[in-house]
Amino acid sequence: MSKQIKAIRGMNDILPQDTVVWQYLEDTVRRLLRQYNYGEIRLPIVEYTELFKRSIGEVTDIVEKEMYTFLDRNEESLTLRPEGTAGCVRAGEEHGLLYNQVQRFWYMGPMFRYEKPQKGRYRQFHQIGVESFGLAGPDIDAELIIMSARLWRQLGLREQVRLQLNSLGSNAARARFREALVAYLRQHQDALDSDSQRRLASNPLRILDSKDAGTQAVLAEAPSLEDYLDEESQEHFSQLRRLLDAAGVAYEVNPRLVRGLDYYCKTVFEWVTDALGAQGTVCAGGRYDGLVQQLGGKPTPAVGFAMGLERLVLLLETCGGADHLQRGPDLYLMSEDPAQALILAEQVRNQRPELRVQCHCGGGRFKKQIKKADDSGARVALVLGEEEIRQQEVTVKFLREQRPQERVAQARLGEYLAANLINQES
Ligand code: ATP
Ligand code: MG
Repeated sequence: MSKQIKAIRGMNDILPQDTVVWQYLEDTVRRLLRQYNYGEIRLPIVEYTELFKRSIGEVTDIVEKEMYTFLDRNEESLTLRPEGTAGCVRAGEEHGLLYNQVQRFWYMGPMFRYEKPQKGRYRQFHQIGVESFGLAGPDIDAELIIMSARLWRQLGLREQVRLQLNSLGSNAARARFREALVAYLRQHQDALDSDSQRRLASNPLRILDSKDAGTQAVLAEAPSLEDYLDEESQEHFSQLRRLLDAAGVAYEVNPRLVRGLDYYCKTVFEWVTDALGAQGTVCAGGRYDGLVQQLGGKPTPAVGFAMGLERLVLLLETCGGADHLQRGPDLYLMSEDPAQALILAEQVRNQRPELRVQCHCGGGRFKKQIKKADDSGARVALVLGEEEIRQQEVTVKFLREQRPQERVAQARLGEYLAANLINQES
């Protein structure tokens, strides 16, 4: 026998029992974004490598070691997108949607990063991203955060996540802070973990993110970004805080929050949970006023965030937020006469389009069929025996509750189901 081919490590199949949770999450987010009038943008999964190098930054984890990059048959360097913002900006510019305009976009789909696969961290993973262009004030930052807070309420995750907030200041302010940080860290270089020592030269702000205890101890006394913020960023940040306070969205200011991509400035935020271990960030974003220009456009303020869907699905499953989802059919229709069964099933689907109707296929006696009905998880079995067919009726058997079975005229079945089978899941 030839060897079985397996999926690539870190790239997961999502099976029907789990897509139920995915669809619930996706549908909820879609509805939410519609409420806020954000428009969906669909972008290619592959872009020129240069796009990511120029936007994300050469000395970031993503560009240094996580990208899936290859030469195509024309010897052009292409990359499977590791995130969505770069492509979104590229598309916005290419189609003339950004200059002097206000836009609110969202996208959803797979992203690819060559990381060490573990719980909540995969090589193909999925994000829903939201980006807004053309607005420089803190009100749009607040809108994005308030919108995400509403999402957690809608998903029943309000108690599971908390908001961390910081301001990175202007590019100039960050540069001044970086200098002070490097000067300080150089004095304590030996106490830093090796990754942080390496970053001291390449991307020192990322050291603030380090989980290493020794590095954390050094950082406790380090200069704080807060003290280096320019006046405009300070004002932006305090207005944002006032807007969030007014909207009743709680947050913690975390001066260590820097985010791993180069293009952020001013506001950055993360929604984190303690329920998933080390991979606790479920949604992350911030302002990136310089990126559009960096990619060749006119200066355009912008702000956005991305959620990691695998982590949100895990969180929903961990805290019981997916327990109410219906996995089986509402009705399981059984008969030893397939023609009659298929016809009645169509009739029910016409009359009650909201119900999930599974028609037994594959023959067999009623005894076998009733077992299948039970295994399917259906709430109700519809039995179409010889007698029922003769009388143009159907027997309704409740599989999950103590309730006598009933004979119902086929002509009245739709009406009967509406009155007796209120679907609990909307
Ligand atoms: P982390 O610090 O966990 O590596 P990140 O800063 O690299 O996250 P972003 O680029 O901001 O992540 O992506 C936004 C969100 O996408 C993350 O908060 C997370 O929920 C999700 N995400 C990022 N990388 C992965 C991955 N490899 N597998 C699953 N989800 C991911
Ligand atoms: Mg990462």
